[in-house]
Amino acid sequence: MKKVFILGSTGSIGVNTLNVIRNFSDRFKVAGLTVNSRIDLLEQQIKEFKPEFVVVTDKSKAKELKSNAGNICEVLSGYDQILNAAAERDYDILLGSIVGFSGLAPTLEAIKRGKRIALANKETLVVAGEIVTKLVLANSAQIIPVDSEHSAIYQCLIGENLNEVEKLILTASGGPFLNKDKSFFETATLDEALNHPNWKMGNKITIDSATMMNKGLEVIEAKWLFGLPVERISVVIHPQSIIHSMVQFVDGSIKAQLGLPDMKLPIQYALTFPERLKNDFKRTDLPAINNFTFFEPDFDKFECLKLAYNVIKTGGTTPCILNAANEIAVDKFLKGMIKFSQIPCLIDKALNYIENHSEPDIETIFECDRATREFVLSTSY
Ligand code: MG
Repeated sequence: MKKVFILGSTGSIGVNTLNVIRNFSDRFKVAGLTVNSRIDLLEQQIKEFKPEFVVVTDKSKAKELKSNAGNICEVLSGYDQILNAAAERDYDILLGSIVGFSGLAPTLEAIKRGKRIALANKETLVVAGEIVTKLVLANSAQIIPVDSEHSAIYQCLIGENLNEVEKLILTASGGPFLNKDKSFFETATLDEALNHPNWKMGNKITIDSATMMNKGLEVIEAKWLFGLPVERISVVIHPQSIIHSMVQFVDGSIKAQLGLPDMKLPIQYALTFPERLKNDFKRTDLPAINNFTFFEPDFDKFECLKLAYNVIKTGGTTPCILNAANEIAVDKFLKGMIKFSQIPCLIDKALNYIENHSEPDIETIFECDRATREFVLSTSY
């Protein structure tokens, strides 16, 4: 029986993780759950999965939950308690699906204890890839990606030699604005940006898909996960989202992993690896897919993707600046404070304004994240 600690249990990945655990209740047990404030759904999850503890970041919501469900499990409150739980509680697998930079610190705690990390929080590797990968090695921890593209590559690499990999090919749906002109970004509404053609996800990542920043972050994530230089990581648009990513080898052979756009599969793989367990998820109906296309991404149109490739080359704290600026810019767009077209402009401003530190330690990364947020929050448009 493996105990799973889920960070962000009411988000899309968290809910899907619990769907997987429900299928394999003879193998997995919920150790703990964390949420920001959605205690109504958390209460249902507590009743069904009976975790040993839960952490609610919002302190007044935690108080409310305590009076409703405090007799079923321990209710803790505040972000610090997430860190404490990751550092001290009993669990085997950390499923990190908190959105954004705040996923980094608890993931570091789990890595220090040599745990398996089922990593859905790509920002952890984006902002601190070098530190994280060194720490994983030093503590014999294990990162199994949950991000569908990286799960696909991970699966394609089983039994292969990394020296024989020519390049990784990350697929991208292209998001809701794939067939729009760049001028459309001036007037794109929130509803239009949130209307992803294939994937149902949280708001932040859905906007990241519309700007294609999500793919940029994924290129950085892939660089650290698989230890390959960015020159050997490419992006191809595949609007059907059936091929989740590919690996091309030195002999020209390409391996791909296919499946429906459903996060349950990569989540299950990250929990059960190296085993594959039989499930009853919907199967891919290949003859029903009568259109299977690929083309180059447009870097001029999707400026966020270009910015992401630039920061990989510059390195230092620039990926951290890119990520923090993007988090605040997307939040501003979600709140109606800026236009869709202004998201890359704000990130570019932050990259020009905030000083880059090469080979940063973890304190420098936290400080860089804080300073960038402050800058982008106070930069009006
Ligand atoms: Mg992905």
